[in-house]
Amino acid sequence: MVLGWVGFDVQAILRNSDEEQSLLPTPEKQMVQVTNPFTLELTSKPASVADGVWLRLRCLESSVLSCFWGCEASSVQAALKALQHSPQPSSLQCFQQALDSQYYYSQTFQICDTSWTEVFTHIPAEQDITDFGPLPRRCYPLVTVLTLAQEDALDTYTIVASVTVLHVPDDRYPLSARVLFQYLFTQQGSMYELKPLFMSADSEEDKAESRNSSSPDENSSTPHSPELDSEDEGQWSDRSERDCVVCQNDKVNKVLLPCRHTCVCENCALHLQHCPVCRAFIIESFILRPNNTATSSF
Ligand SMILES: [Zn+2]
Ligand SMILES: [Zn+2]
Repeated sequence: MVLGWVGFDVQAILRNSDEEQSLLPTPEKQMVQVTNPFTLELTSKPASVADGVWLRLRCLESSVLSCFWGCEASSVQAALKALQHSPQPSSLQCFQQALDSQYYYSQTFQICDTSWTEVFTHIPAEQDITDFGPLPRRCYPLVTVLTLAQEDALDTYTIVASVTVLHVPDDRYPLSARVLFQYLFTQQGSMYELKPLFMSADSEEDKAESRNSSSPDENSSTPHSPELDSEDEGQWSDRSERDCVVCQNDKVNKVLLPCRHTCVCENCALHLQHCPVCRAFIIESFILRPNNTATSSF
């Protein structure tokens, strides 16, 4: 750094070019790698309140899927809180109790198949429910809860429950079906929101989408799990290889925060202060695959 003078008695601080190069590195976010046994997403089949919804899911262990139609929003918040404080394995009962019957209809499925499977949930026609009333609404169209069916599986996984809040269209509100929120719960009662990572969806390695989840109460540990759906990913890139967008050479292995674009290699990330895709300032970042494995990670 050079302290100089410009004109008469006008002090100025000049920076030499070396200092321009030596940018402070972006702080590395500490992550913990875990396996998430639950994956749930919408299929591309038509979905509506009147005609039901096809869900696509994969559970690594026998699980129970509960679908609650037309859940009152404040009851869902109470149920999410209850899930954080409920003893395992009775988390589903606690969730349902906290909902306090503030929903229109519920349905439960035993998921024994550990491969991808599709489940159809709908409100029976005799209930005569085709929408959830005029806007604005105070209820979520569909809330699903996935929990482990076997008690002994609880010791195997850090994640023991998953809640997904979905929008499902009806005649009064035709916005297409989509996942609104997805939360994971640990056995210790921590709740993490899953958020998508924005990455090229056509990798040769894993087309699985990745999600990054951040805990509202625990900033130091932000989980993410590859293998969850990625409907709106890949919009920023249609490259055939998942190579770094800067050097076009190394594999993408850095997630930039807060924008969650996953588009550069570790080396290039060292020299960036702004995301090369959206130009957002990079506040912190983390490595996608610390050991070059494709397992879920925090
Ligand atoms: Zn690079
Ligand atoms: Zn970005």
